[in-house]
Amino acid sequence: MAHGGLHIEVRGTVQGVGYRPWVYQLAQRIGVAGRVWNDSRGVSIDAYGTREALDGFLAQLQAGSPPAASVRSVTCSELSDADLDAFTIAGSATSSERRVSIPADLATCDDCLRELLDPDDRRYRYPFINCTNCGPRYSIVYGSPYDRAKTSMARFTMCDACRREYESPSDRRFHAQPNACPDCGPRLVAMTPQGNHVETDDPIRFAARALRAGLIVAVKGLGGFHLACDATSPQAVQRLRERKHRETKPLAIMVPDLAEAETLAELNDEERALLVSIERPIVLAKASNSAPAPAPGAGGLSEATLIGLFLPYTPLHHLLLRDAGMPLVMTSGNFSDEPMVTTNDDALHQLGEVADLFLMHDRDIVTRVDDSVVRVIAGAPTLIRRARGYVPHAIETRREFAEPILACGAHLKNTFCIASGTAAFLGPHIGDLESVATLHAYESAIERMKEFIGVSPKLLVHDLHPDYFSTRYALAESGVRTIGVQHHHAHVASVMAEHGLDGPVIGIAYDGTGFGTDGTSWGGEILIARYAGFERFATFRAIPLAGGDLAIRQPWRIALALLDDAFDGEPPPFEIFARKDVETVRRMIARNFNSMPARGVGRYFDAFGALFLNMPDAHYEGEVAFQWNLIADPSCGADFPVRVSEAQAGKPVLHEIDLRPTMRAAVDAYLHGVSPATISARFHNTIAAVTAKLALEARAMHGELPVVLSGGCFQNARLAESVIDAIGGNVFMNRGVPPGDGGIALGQAFIAREIAACA
Ligand code: ZN
Ligand code: ZN
Ligand code: FE
Repeated sequence: MAHGGLHIEVRGTVQGVGYRPWVYQLAQRIGVAGRVWNDSRGVSIDAYGTREALDGFLAQLQAGSPPAASVRSVTCSELSDADLDAFTIAGSATSSERRVSIPADLATCDDCLRELLDPDDRRYRYPFINCTNCGPRYSIVYGSPYDRAKTSMARFTMCDACRREYESPSDRRFHAQPNACPDCGPRLVAMTPQGNHVETDDPIRFAARALRAGLIVAVKGLGGFHLACDATSPQAVQRLRERKHRETKPLAIMVPDLAEAETLAELNDEERALLVSIERPIVLAKASNSAPAPAPGAGGLSEATLIGLFLPYTPLHHLLLRDAGMPLVMTSGNFSDEPMVTTNDDALHQLGEVADLFLMHDRDIVTRVDDSVVRVIAGAPTLIRRARGYVPHAIETRREFAEPILACGAHLKNTFCIASGTAAFLGPHIGDLESVATLHAYESAIERMKEFIGVSPKLLVHDLHPDYFSTRYALAESGVRTIGVQHHHAHVASVMAEHGLDGPVIGIAYDGTGFGTDGTSWGGEILIARYAGFERFATFRAIPLAGGDLAIRQPWRIALALLDDAFDGEPPPFEIFARKDVETVRRMIARNFNSMPARGVGRYFDAFGALFLNMPDAHYEGEVAFQWNLIADPSCGADFPVRVSEAQAGKPVLHEIDLRPTMRAAVDAYLHGVSPATISARFHNTIAAVTAKLALEARAMHGELPVVLSGGCFQNARLAESVIDAIGGNVFMNRGVPPGDGGIALGQAFIAREIAACA
């Protein structure tokens, strides 16, 4: 029989995810000798055996992987036969070049769950059970390469039983870095808000009783603290909202399993798959009628509501959900807009007034990782917030980055991106760069990511907005080059990067606001874009924002400006302006005092929503626009008139979308008793129709270019889906990074690579 050898290289996320033991077991099964080891870029294998065995071995490597691994490529070359009769797992080859990503945090696997619930298992009800296929990773690592000594598990010395598992190649805990048991690992405690230990031999059962009694429990999770309460108790939820100063934002709900999720939401196949995926994101889905109201609707108007659901992803969650016996609100443990707390001390200090009980432990969270949020749009998942389970997985590119680039991102919902080699690593969702704690989180997450990838970027990319903290951060760095990238250009480039489009594309970027190259606020942009640059094809007519950012929290101001514009200063009276200082706002606009003109499509959503839902004020940015989206009647296909004006020759923008006729028609419909649900649907249809029309016009001028959709407005599934439908084919949108400002950094990195190469 013919014998031979193969050298095989496996690339992707294959370290820290049980890949070598998996290969070992595969080799045993097929009867292949040789060895497997971690190298600087992934895993290498030398395999020897019969031709038939080698072919089968290679085929299995190409076809499958352990659940947590993500294989990018398997390449092989011939070796001459060697006289080996065993297969071994060899030590790691060390190298100064570190391109291997730290694994992302992994939801508890089925094997561990079975042991967790088995009274005869030595880890029965042990809330820190894990294995090579599951458990904490990125959130507990502070250095590279990924090894127990560089994680917050370093202080726990493995007992003999755990060490045997850790060292045995055939064990499913072989080199599981966070391996632990009740004898040697982290411990759980229940504490009062005053910091006193609660005497109990089962803190989880104790916490579950507290939850059943309607109390609020702060729970230390994987990437930060959650605040938990009984989701079926309106009183408990209301108390949580009041104490957390979060009156209206939707709250995520954790359910024990898929069956329970089905009772709370109308799920499709994609949503089901996401709920049970190893990343375990929060999935936004349509709430069923029996769902507890996660957010009070807009004055009782909200009929269709989105609900954010997720399944347990740590052993602690599994036990808590089972013992409590009901779905739990699990919202980020923070106070107002501060970042989620990660340390026990901060929890007691910052959440002492919010929580009645603390469930915490002595395994430190090294890097804060928020829950990821996903929504299915046009039949496929789109990440709305990218963090736990996804970070630090790289986004791959065919063309190499000649030098490492740090893209600093935008201001709200910030993420950053470090690109090096053929990979772009997005950092975790950091949040709005507005509080000292958030700025600190931003800087330290950047430092850790540099360390993980082993690079020191010499090119920094920032938004054009001079006041963004991320811009100032980039410009304050010395000894590096910096490049400023326009906000909507970056949005468009983020889609190009994800889908491997080199441009030109027709880029549609609709959001709330972004700094334009002319210093004004853009946000309704249709661009003809390449990485190296763009021209503006169309934009929306500007609306003055009286009071600047204040108008975003008080959208009645924008509604007034839009109404006055549409009705030449003499609009019909509307309820929302009662008790508002209408004349001051009018004077500000007339004198152009603190009334920056803005073109953001999100502002139009705010204005229409404020007016027809009678919501003069928003509790948070985008609240009214969100409600305006939710209320739209799905069965209504009609639209309103809209005007597109052509610019004179020499103007930087060719078309301006003018919604004054739309506003007049909407007001007319309203005065004739047409429902807000229908007006909203017709408003959505109008925006979609005019967008598609202009995209097709751009194609007529520039050829059959791909169309890409980005910007926070495309988190609105109805808008995205109707634009995609109306354009027809060859349309792309963000999937693996958020359409909102959380995806900006990726686009920045790709644009900077191009500009740096041309310079
Ligand atoms: Zn496991
Ligand atoms: Zn142990
Ligand atoms: Fe934006």
